[in-house]
Amino acid sequence: MLLKAHAKINLSLDIIGKRKDGYHLLEMVMQTLELHDEIEISETEKGILVTCDKDYVPVDERNIAYKAAKLLMELKDIRKGVRIDIRKKIPVAAGLAGGSADAAAVLEGMNEIFNLKMTEKELMDAGLKLGADVPFCIRGGTCLCEGVGEVVTSLKPFKDHIVLLVKPSFGVSTKDAYGGFELDKINRHVDTDKLIKAMGENDLKGMSYFSRNLLENVVLRRYPVLKSIKLSMQKSGSVITLMSGSGPTIYGIFTDEQHAENAARALHKNGNEVILTRTI
Ligand code: ATP
Repeated sequence: MLLKAHAKINLSLDIIGKRKDGYHLLEMVMQTLELHDEIEISETEKGILVTCDKDYVPVDERNIAYKAAKLLMELKDIRKGVRIDIRKKIPVAAGLAGGSADAAAVLEGMNEIFNLKMTEKELMDAGLKLGADVPFCIRGGTCLCEGVGEVVTSLKPFKDHIVLLVKPSFGVSTKDAYGGFELDKINRHVDTDKLIKAMGENDLKGMSYFSRNLLENVVLRRYPVLKSIKLSMQKSGSVITLMSGSGPTIYGIFTDEQHAENAARALHKNGNEVILTRTI
């Protein structure tokens, strides 16, 4: 069975508190992209085998697709095995939920292959055990994600917008970005309600005003090159320009294909990975 594991961007990311167990309480507007990894899943006699076309991605227990398969096998007492082949197209450690998307695809694929008849809610509950972004990756589209990622509410679709992704040659670990975040130093949170209102009115200008990512405070300070990438995209005509998730990917939303292509050309340097895609 062949599945598409789609990347996401954050149209906003707010951290509104911290639970006693250390998890951050989030408020994020998330958007699925056409960009995807390809995941091929097949039934085997026993065990879990993961392969990946990129040698820098681990294929043992550290791979989140492996963890997803193991979780479901234990949860549903599956006596067979599974083989998972990953063709990676989503940049890694980039803030694009590449790993989470793979995990979501494995849960969905195994649900079909083994005829588990799990509901979306059951899949999302299982997904949350693997990562905060996995429940959203199962739902997909345009969503408000709250809590520690478990409260997912679908919003009016924000489809067919041109998105340019620029991922510099370095990665940022999600743990490091959140670790450097100081909640008590934040004096202005994201106005998520206003952002959603602007989205409902197809008001891109309004969206660009309310579209913010609080982790930019941490990551852009550490990596000033990201500020110049943002500036360059804005100069090329991006309407919304933001860091996705915990970074370091900077994305621009364009209304003009030619402008997006010009920006892509200008930013294709210094080892940057540059990808033109769309919201779906
Ligand atoms: P998120 O936005 O969900 O935090 P990310 O895009 O920041 O995700 P990932 O691409 O998921 O980050 O990668 C984070 C780390 O997880 C990397 O160090 C990578 O080696 C490891 N990893 C484990 N499994 C996978 C996978 N299937 N795909 C990509 N990375 C994986």
